Amino acid sequence: MTAPAQVSAPLAMLAELTHRCPLACPYCSNPLQLDRRSDELDTATWVRVFQEAAALGILQIHLSGGEPAARRDLVELVAGAARAGLYTNLITSGIGLDQARLAALAEAGLDHVQLSVQGIDEPSADAVAGLAGSHRRKRAFAAMTTALGLPLTVNVVLHRGNLAALEALVEEAITLGARRIELAHAQYYGWGLINRDALMPDRASVIAARTTLDRLRAATQGRIVIDYVPPDHFALYPKPCVNGWGQQSLNVTPRGRVLPCHAAETIPGLEFWTVAEHSLDVIWRNSPAFNAYRGEDWMVEPCRSCARKAIDFGGCRCQALALTGDARNTDPVCTLSPHHLRVEALADTPLTNTTLVMRGRSAQGVEALPHDEPLADRMSPACRDRP
Ligand code: SF4
Ligand code: SF4
Repeated sequence: MTAPAQVSAPLAMLAELTHRCPLACPYCSNPLQLDRRSDELDTATWVRVFQEAAALGILQIHLSGGEPAARRDLVELVAGAARAGLYTNLITSGIGLDQARLAALAEAGLDHVQLSVQGIDEPSADAVAGLAGSHRRKRAFAAMTTALGLPLTVNVVLHRGNLAALEALVEEAITLGARRIELAHAQYYGWGLINRDALMPDRASVIAARTTLDRLRAATQGRIVIDYVPPDHFALYPKPCVNGWGQQSLNVTPRGRVLPCHAAETIPGLEFWTVAEHSLDVIWRNSPAFNAYRGEDWMVEPCRSCARKAIDFGGCRCQALALTGDARNTDPVCTLSPHHLRVEALADTPLTNTTLVMRGRSAQGVEALPHDEPLADRMSPACRDRP
C-alpha cells in the first residue's frame, strides 16, 4: 500500500517505554494485554527511533508508560532524545524517581514533567492508584521537580468518584507548584470499559462540573492554566480524535509497534509495522494502519458530506468500532450519527453500580486484577458526601 500524495509531517510522538507500572489505576490507557519486559525495545533502538523522529519533523516527544522510571536506562533515553533535538516531556506517576535520578534527568535535557494525580487526599488517591503511600510520594516528587526548575503539569483523570472535587483538585495542583492542570474524563476503552459502570458520571454531574470549571478558570487566572477534556458521551459532536488519524502524531509501543493512536490495536484487521522492520519515516508514510483512515476517502455518510469533517475528522475510530461494530462509521457521539441513540442510552442509563466496585489494572494482564474492592473508600470526601 502506498501513501496518499499529501502526507504532512507529524509533530509529536508518544513513546510508551514500558507497560510496567507500580500503580493499578482502573482507567489505565494501557492495553488489556500488556507488553512484557522481555519484549521491550532496548536503549539503542529507542535512541535510533528518536533520531528518526526528529528527522521526520517531530518536535516533541512524550516519554510515557506504564511508568517510564521502571526503565533503568531512562536517563540515557532522555539524553538521546535531547541530543536528537526533541522537546522532552516525561509523563510519570512520580513513583520510582528519587532526587538524584530526577536531577540526572534534568541534566540530561528533560524539558517538562507531567505528574498523574489520582485524588485530593491520601486515602482516596491511594485507593484509586492501588498503592498505599503513593499520594504522599507524589507530593514529594512534585516538590523535587519544581525545586529543579522543571515546569510541572498535573494530570487528573475525571470520573464519578472525583468529579465533584474539581475545586480541590485544582487547589491541590496549585499547591504542588503546577503551572497547568489537565482534567480529562476517563475514556471507555480497555480498562476504562471494564470499569465503565463505576467510572461514568451522570449527566447532571457533568453539567454541574462545566459550571464549576468556568468559575475556577476565572478565579485562578494567572495562577494555573486549566485544560479540560469533556466526556464523549454527553457531547453533541465528537472531539477531533488525535487531531486526525495519521495527521499529527504517532505512538510507539514498548515492543516497537507504531500506532496512529494509543487504542488503535483494538481495531481488528489493521496491520501495524514495527520500528525493528522499518524506519519511522517509512512507517508514517506507508504503513497500512496509518493509511487506513488518513484523509477523507474512507469516510461514509453523514461525515462524507458534512462541513465539520475538517474540524473533527469524523471523531474516534476506536469508539465507532466499540459502539457500532464498524470503525469506518461516524463516531456515534455525533448527534448526526444514525447510531447516536446508543450513546444517549448509555449516558442516561440509571447508575446501577451503587457500590462502585472498580477493578484496578494488572501488572501482568487481565488474568490477575490486584484490587477488587468497594469504591466507597476510593472517593474523595467531596464526592462521598454528595447527596
Ligand atoms: S494510568 Fe495509572 S496504572 Fe496506568 S500507567 Fe498511568 S499511573 Fe500506571
Ligand atoms: S457527521 Fe461526521 S464530520 Fe459531521 S459533525 Fe458528525 S462526526 Fe463530525
